[in-house]
Amino acid sequence: MALMVQKFGGTSIGSIDLLRHVARIICDTHSQGHQIIVVASAMGGETDRLVALAKEVDADYSGREFDALLATGEQCSSALLTIALIKQGVPAVSMTGTQAGICTDAVHSKARITYVASEKIQYYLKQAKVVVVAGFQGADEAGNITTLGRGGSDTTAVAIAAALQCDECQIYTDVDGIYTTDPRLVPQARRLKRITFEEILEMASLGSKVLQIRAVELAGKYNVPLRVLSTFDKGEGTLISYEENSMEDARISGIAFNQDEAQLTVRGVPDRPGVAASILAPISDANIEVDMIVQNVGSRDGIADFTFTVHRRDYTNALGILEDTAKALGAGKVRGNDKIVKISLVGVGMRSHAGVASKMFSALAKAGIDIRMISTSEIKISVVVAEGDMKAAVQVLHQAFELEKDTQA
Ligand code: ADP
Ligand code: ASP
Ligand code: MG
Repeated sequence: MALMVQKFGGTSIGSIDLLRHVARIICDTHSQGHQIIVVASAMGGETDRLVALAKEVDADYSGREFDALLATGEQCSSALLTIALIKQGVPAVSMTGTQAGICTDAVHSKARITYVASEKIQYYLKQAKVVVVAGFQGADEAGNITTLGRGGSDTTAVAIAAALQCDECQIYTDVDGIYTTDPRLVPQARRLKRITFEEILEMASLGSKVLQIRAVELAGKYNVPLRVLSTFDKGEGTLISYEENSMEDARISGIAFNQDEAQLTVRGVPDRPGVAASILAPISDANIEVDMIVQNVGSRDGIADFTFTVHRRDYTNALGILEDTAKALGAGKVRGNDKIVKISLVGVGMRSHAGVASKMFSALAKAGIDIRMISTSEIKISVVVAEGDMKAAVQVLHQAFELEKDTQA
């Protein structure tokens, strides 16, 4: 008998028929004698609908009531799923995040789980019930309802699996595992049988939206065996685990892309110590996060160009701040571009294989794709290209690194 979490995403429970289908999956697991905690997302499209309603009332509102509203999406689906389970003869009980003991900090709309007080869940498990927890939500110390950020039901699932030391945390979704890149963009993308926590963490933070980053962080920290699998097709999905020796041959595991970035450049900056800090300090004072940074020292003595990227939502704000800084520094023109994307190759095998970067750059060059910025770390290489080149660039790289071929043992 195993103890496991089964999480179902919005598209998996987008209609009553789908809810019944999901109830059958849970019923099957239950009839094999396993103990199950189910985590339910809101029914597909419901969170967006609630966000739109709030915006209609007040486009600028954020805070406590927004979370109280959004949390209802998961409360509704978890109760409906429980009714479907009971109808199929499975003893089950639903719980809101608060009832399930999901304690968070007080940062509305992006709260972090601080603790899971799991006694109530355990109480119902002992009664041989399937416990259906509303994902994406918890409560702060004062009892206010909080939500965990978009995609947050993944994090609820992992936090419960960690707290109860479950044998496996299964994330059921509309794809049958983690792919070498988003299969919606590249049809040749291939499902990976395994991927490491490190790699999926890089992929999630570089823009792959298959799992919430926080969920991967938690799973890595508490070593929760995590599996992504399909609600619609039977199969083993993708297991996320720590690095294994046999994986070192796979140089690259996947390609992530991020369309949320914008680029800013200030020309003719006097190249003296402290100048990078004076450009970036006003940006970070405005709570704007900077991602990639490049400084080109020009041929003219003591003059440099300074380029960096920010989230697209911060673009206009950052541009204004940079223009003021450029004036104060006596620098040249400020230019911005919000039609760029970041594309990243990710793989633990990159550590031990030289030549990945040059292969990447020449594949892009052959396809006539201009690289605007480059950054590297131990297990990833990212480039910035024009937004219009995104699809071609991901496809070209997928082909160049033969990601459609199965190299895993
Ligand atoms: P859910 O509603 O179940 O939480 P999500 O939409 O959050 O599902 O995540 C699943 C989606 O993630 C897939 O439909 C797919 O388009 C996208 N995705 C992005 N990158 C990848 C990848 N590397 N592998 C698999 N799916 C990916
Ligand atoms: N319903 C929330 C969202 O759409 C949380 C989730 O599905 O994980 O972001
Ligand atoms: Mg999701």
